[in-house]
Amino acid sequence: MSTLQTEHREINGVKVEITRVGEGRIRRVTYPGGFRWSKDMKPTVKTDSCEHTHVGYIVEGSIEITYADGCRAEFTAPQAVVIDAGHDGRVTGNGAAVMIEFDFEGETARRFGLPESHRH
Ligand SMILES: [Zn+2]
Repeated sequence: MSTLQTEHREINGVKVEITRVGEGRIRRVTYPGGFRWSKDMKPTVKTDSCEHTHVGYIVEGSIEITYADGCRAEFTAPQAVVIDAGHDGRVTGNGAAVMIEFDFEGETARRFGLPESHRH
């Protein structure tokens, strides 16, 4: 019997609770109302777009994703979420958006068999 340990982080107003599981992680991520990646995170991350693959479930609120080629996706709780790397994202509506995300840090796309970035 092992005990799961959860680490709490906050970056630019985004609260993240991280639980490591084997080679992966379960993360509960709270994006505050009004959050937009390109405004709130880009200056810290210093990439053109969010280069993370997001796989999980939105349990509260709504988000809108925009890819560099103009494709858009919207997710509203309760709903499964898959977002390819190479996107901007923002919280829509008034409140926060809460996501449960599963990742393998830099290997998330490969481990899930997803493309390394948005394509058709
Ligand atoms: Zn597209």
